[in-house]
Amino acid sequence: MSSFSVLMYHAIPLEIRAGADLDFDPHYAVTVADFTRQMEFISKQQKLGSKIAGRSASANEVYITFDDGHLTNYTQAFPVLQACGFTAEFYINTATVGTAGYVSWDQLREMHQAGMAIESHGHDHVLMNELSEDAVRLQLQQSYDLIKQEIGSSPIVFSPPGGRMHPAMQHLVPEIGFQYVAYSKPGVWDGGNRFIPRYPVLANSNEQFEAAVLQNFKFRLKTKVRHDVMGLAKKVLGNSGYERLRATLLAKRQET
Ligand SMILES: [Zn+2]
Repeated sequence: MSSFSVLMYHAIPLEIRAGADLDFDPHYAVTVADFTRQMEFISKQQKLGSKIAGRSASANEVYITFDDGHLTNYTQAFPVLQACGFTAEFYINTATVGTAGYVSWDQLREMHQAGMAIESHGHDHVLMNELSEDAVRLQLQQSYDLIKQEIGSSPIVFSPPGGRMHPAMQHLVPEIGFQYVAYSKPGVWDGGNRFIPRYPVLANSNEQFEAAVLQNFKFRLKTKVRHDVMGLAKKVLGNSGYERLRATLLAKRQET
């Protein structure tokens, strides 16, 4: 059976300075220098950076995805991808497109023209696990319609904000016209399942990155255990309690 690595990126800034007034989450950001090295690593492994939408499903494809539509996706990541001859997939929040720090529709159209896929991360960045079914439907439908209208091509992949799932997504996703849900559960994708696990590429994680591309077993196990623990915390504590726990854990890590 085939198995594909699907990488999940967020902002790709020039640098991540401690204590700076950042407009992105530093834990999830990868500097453009690290990102460039990572794309070169994929190339050297004789693999091709690609997108899920319109994929060729060649065994050598590594799928590259970006959540949130941060402006650096256009200014930093896009030129690197083009230089490598790669395509990738960008999950945007249609409500934040064109606002400070985020990509504009013109930039997204340019990326789409160059072969990139523009996909949905919902309308706002609202966490959907605590929404009503109608509210989830509205988030999906609004983002689907706006992308179709602005890009001229319908999205086929949906990435839930914060990786938060809602049971109704199972039927809403195909009803609205999406084919896949790219979520935040780590693992490899078999190429067929509607729900696509992804490896989050984090700041200072070059070693883990290489293991993820090569589908190293130990890495799979480690990320799965961490994800299961955090998933349980999300369930028990709810969205706001979970964010407080995560902030405490991150602060602790920086102290030590
Ligand atoms: Zn997000």
